[in-house]
Amino acid sequence: MPPDPEVSIAKAPLAPYAAMESTSRGRRHPEPAATYRGEYQRDRDRIIHSTAFRRLMYKTQVFVNHEGDLYRTRLTHSLEVTQIARTVALALHLSEPLVEAVSLAHDLGHTPFGHAGQDALNTCMQDYGGFEHNLQSLRVVDELEAKYAEFPGLNLMYETREGILKHCSARNARELGELGQRFLERRQPGAEAQLVNLADAIAYNNHDVDDGFRAGLLELDQLREQPLFGAHYDEVRAAYPGLDDRRLIYETIRRMIGHVVTDLIVNTAAKLGEVAPASIDDIRNLDGPVVSFSPAVQEVHAGLKNFLRENLYRHARVRAMNDRTREMVDMLFSSYMADTSRMPAWFDQRARGSDDRRARVVADYIAGMTDRFAIAEFERLA
Ligand code: MG
Repeated sequence: MPPDPEVSIAKAPLAPYAAMESTSRGRRHPEPAATYRGEYQRDRDRIIHSTAFRRLMYKTQVFVNHEGDLYRTRLTHSLEVTQIARTVALALHLSEPLVEAVSLAHDLGHTPFGHAGQDALNTCMQDYGGFEHNLQSLRVVDELEAKYAEFPGLNLMYETREGILKHCSARNARELGELGQRFLERRQPGAEAQLVNLADAIAYNNHDVDDGFRAGLLELDQLREQPLFGAHYDEVRAAYPGLDDRRLIYETIRRMIGHVVTDLIVNTAAKLGEVAPASIDDIRNLDGPVVSFSPAVQEVHAGLKNFLRENLYRHARVRAMNDRTREMVDMLFSSYMADTSRMPAWFDQRARGSDDRRARVVADYIAGMTDRFAIAEFERLA
């Protein structure tokens, strides 16, 4: 019998391996405890109040912001990730406020124009240490949000920062101290971080089917060949003959999300039962991630991701837009590098020093831009 969510889930105590304030590695700059909030709730609130968070509203997920009002942006994507992660966290007795904080912050370092923008910026930064969006998300919360009198950045809890930094090159990991260690030692992050990583994949796999179909870049016949989509589509059609196409697609996607989320909860709960970790450090020391799909769902979910890569992210129309946005990022980078006073004074002043320093500040400035601001700057400087 499924548990009564009111009683068993919402009020159940945290699992011993959940992230907890009592075992947390804390904040880089110690602060007195908050009066009315837990520390992970406080992190979530700081993230929501940040400038970088508000800008997610005008940043591309797949479609450039001005292409239409109905497509996902980084903000609505982040909200969908949060909603999925919270459900799973409650079901597994993990820290809900921590997964909320990590989910809301996970894309803060994304450039304008989605992956094309980030690839372009990484190319521009080749001689200056490169550009990684995960690391940039951490830079945003650790340094770039200058809002508090007593410390740089948002001074978030260790576990929140651990969740934000989901990938990192060995070169950069070496410079991050304790937080970078796991990439060098190939250890795992806590369960909440693992969970947000998968909630991210569930969210984009499903909403990109919706957006891609709406944009006319994906055909129904192609989608039906995808096992995850096809099975649910056939089921809905059999149950509701005569349902119009739009509702049919929405109902299919809704069931796809339900299916993979349920699989994630059931499979992870079983694994946790076997391994019986006694603390978050036990989770960190396991050979591989404990939060995971069953092998069957893992396969169809990965299949859908590959399908989207081939057919949506590399679609001629998306590629044409990407080429255009890549040119804009290139041009902005060389323009600010040539004359840093083209940036606002706060950036211009910080850009003084070595070439590496200047390039990093220029990259920070460009990465922080919304799609529409980057386009306006490109037009101003052209
Ligand atoms: Mg994401």
